[in-house]
Amino acid sequence: MAETAPAKEPIKASEIDPKFKYELTKMHGGEKLLKCFQCGTCTSDCPVARFSDTYRPRQIIRMAQLGLKDRVLKSDTLWLCAACFTCTDRCPQDVEVASVIRVLRNLAAEKGCVPQVFKEQACCILDSGYAYKIPELRVKKRETQGLPPLPKGNPESVRKTLKGIKFLENAEKKGEPSGQ
Ligand code: SF4
Ligand code: SF4
Repeated sequence: MAETAPAKEPIKASEIDPKFKYELTKMHGGEKLLKCFQCGTCTSDCPVARFSDTYRPRQIIRMAQLGLKDRVLKSDTLWLCAACFTCTDRCPQDVEVASVIRVLRNLAAEKGCVPQVFKEQACCILDSGYAYKIPELRVKKRETQGLPPLPKGNPESVRKTLKGIKFLENAEKKGEPSGQ
């Protein structure tokens, strides 16, 4: 997945949605968003930021505070978070950083702004119950090595669980651009 650094583009007044931060504070996990004073502890302690030139949780929180809705929801970097919750544990302001990122991802998924790699993975789960298509060669290799067959996936159960979720509809729009 390509990483982009959308926050480095100059900000235009027209892209600011002043209500966005208030919408986020009404969502579970986003309540303390406005308490962030940009100390950067979340970024310093984030294990993903350590290995990425562009992933900065502090920056994501700031974009959300500023109301840069489209920019943050279309950002590829949003999807790099490993949901380890280190940032949430270390934030001196009790901002639930990982949860804010989850809220933003949910909103992005509703708009269809999901990286193609995750769409494909979701489609695979919906088709087979597995996150990845198991190559036939590997199935045969298991047989030759005397291993039992892989358990059958249950995509019907997954579909039932995810019924009505917009991400499901968006994920199934195979081959269409991810909205980014
Ligand atoms: S650690 Fe908390 S207060 Fe500091 S930048 Fe991150 S979210 Fe904001
Ligand atoms: S939850 Fe995400 S943003 Fe927070 S420290 Fe872990 S990887 Fe970084």
